[in-house]
Amino acid sequence: MALPEPIERLISLLKKFPGVGEKSARRMAFYVLQEGESFGADLARSVGELNRRLTTCEKCGNLTETQPCPICGDPLRDRSLLCVTETIEDLVSIEQSGLFNGLYFVLGTSLSPLEDRESLPEETVRLLRKRFEEYPIREAIIATNPRIEGDMTFYALLDALRDVPVKKSRLAYGLPVGGSIEFADRVTLHAALESRQEVRE
Ligand SMILES: [Zn+2]
Repeated sequence: MALPEPIERLISLLKKFPGVGEKSARRMAFYVLQEGESFGADLARSVGELNRRLTTCEKCGNLTETQPCPICGDPLRDRSLLCVTETIEDLVSIEQSGLFNGLYFVLGTSLSPLEDRESLPEETVRLLRKRFEEYPIREAIIATNPRIEGDMTFYALLDALRDVPVKKSRLAYGLPVGGSIEFADRVTLHAALESRQEVRE
């Protein structure tokens, strides 16, 4: 049975979410309908405001309403440590663990064995290298995920920073191979940060 067009349209949009199939999308769509007009309006407004109010930090790539973001603008952050992540979600997970007080740089991209690319985009590398001129960075903590994309990205980063004379380390013990930083719990992240391995080039 075909459903009325407005609900079919919502279902087809919800199905685009990661991990959401036809059934879950239908349940969510009917939930929105049942909750009534004010919930639907709130939801629509929140979604609309995401792109209108949020932008990425010019310095680190974090999501922000201000330039620079509150992390880059915080004078109490340790400017000698730079943590490089693949995604904003990874930055958020590390930040919410409360275990890291340095600065970040979000690549916003990863290398993949399915693509032909062997290096990071030039503009990303340029912005990243600028951080090392701007801040007195002593150590770059490369927080790429423990899976093939993260490994490839890690080596591309080492290559992009090979002439930058700072200590380079990678998150270590605790993160399951094939797992992700985004879903790691605080204890695991703590272990991974504490036992990060210095990279010998
Ligand atoms: Zn920032």
